[in-house]
Amino acid sequence: MSSPVWHPYAHLKTQSTTPKVVGGSGSHFTLESGERLLDATCSWWCMIHGYSHPRLVAAIREQASELCHVMLGGLTHEPADQLARELVRITPSGLNHVFYSDSGSVGMEVAMKMALQYQVLIGHPEKHKMLSLMKAYHGDTTGCMAVCDPEEGMHSLFASLLPQHHFAPAPTAPFNATPEQVACDLAALREVLAQHHHEIAALLMEPLLQAAGGLNMTSPDYLRGARKLCDEFGVLLIFDEVATGFGRTGKLFAANHADVTPDIMVLSKGLTGGYLGHAATLATDRVHSAFIGDTPHHAFMHGPTFMGNPLACRVALESLRVFEEENYLGKIAQLNHLLSRELIDDEQLRSHSKVADVRVLGATAVIEAHSPEALKGVGDFARQRGVWLRPIGRWLYTMPAYITSEAEMTKVTNVMKAWFLEQ
Ligand SMILES: *Cc1c(COP(=O)(O)O)cnc(C)c1O
Repeated sequence: MSSPVWHPYAHLKTQSTTPKVVGGSGSHFTLESGERLLDATCSWWCMIHGYSHPRLVAAIREQASELCHVMLGGLTHEPADQLARELVRITPSGLNHVFYSDSGSVGMEVAMKMALQYQVLIGHPEKHKMLSLMKAYHGDTTGCMAVCDPEEGMHSLFASLLPQHHFAPAPTAPFNATPEQVACDLAALREVLAQHHHEIAALLMEPLLQAAGGLNMTSPDYLRGARKLCDEFGVLLIFDEVATGFGRTGKLFAANHADVTPDIMVLSKGLTGGYLGHAATLATDRVHSAFIGDTPHHAFMHGPTFMGNPLACRVALESLRVFEEENYLGKIAQLNHLLSRELIDDEQLRSHSKVADVRVLGATAVIEAHSPEALKGVGDFARQRGVWLRPIGRWLYTMPAYITSEAEMTKVTNVMKAWFLEQ
């Protein structure tokens, strides 16, 4: 009997049957059939500790016996307070205020509302649009769809529903680019700001790694340049670190590569180690202090039912402890080394006729094909070899859990390479 579950991003007519997952441990999950698959994507990049991590499971159990949920309106509790203090401690200095919500998309909606209201409160109600980048992906809710890439993104069907924002070209200079290469990208950004800054509340970007929009990587100099341009034009800078946060680019946050503090920063995916859905939107004193005042417009009118959920905050705290105590940045550096050696250094792969580019940053690697057709069937190919891979468009990528061993990581890169080189 077919299931009433409606699956995401699926063509209902042609979708193949979805295998049922019954459990997981470490970097693998297990199917009903007994098949174990090595998860090369850590479940949309959030299960950074892998499955069934004993400390994370114990933290949820303990918290469940004390307090599963209570509203954050007019009340607080220890896990929410403690996690907020920890997030302020580990994020770039100056981000001193934490607004919780329940998913990355909602965290971004909060960031955009906060930026717009900030401009109203400091006397710039005409600054009511966002500036986003081509190749951006910021979530699937209505506000977020409007700041995703309007051409190559997946939401063009909804164009008539969406507010119109401004877009600058996606950065083209790679991670190790020279300042001269980055100057071109910054000139393009400057051009849009110079023309439209009077109506722009904030520039938002996925720093260093535009993830779902095609794993486009750029240089820390681009972030530094963007920070300067935002200050020059009176525009807030929002970093969407939903994908890049918690080590994915090799440092705890992508912002750390550039020593830049955005005005607003959004965290989700890795925040709870993937064990519960949650998000945090952080703001600087400058943003926060604009909301201190006595008109009705000073209150921030947002409050998801499950914001600050105690189970989510408690498991996020435990996730952070494990991350720091077990030197995850060291593990990520090792994964990076292996990914670079196995993929970047493979001349045969890089010069293959179907391969357009190979890129690695932190614990992220992508083989970009010339067309999506070149990846048709790669999911089944990988599954037959014990690996779970799910490409996005023409991008075959891995974003493994950080506990993935060298042998496991090599198995993933071998399967990725074999798809191109051995058939
Ligand atoms: C996944 C993602 C989002 C959306 O998060 P959800 O929890 O799926 O709503 C937003 N921004 C970026 C950069 C993401 O990768």
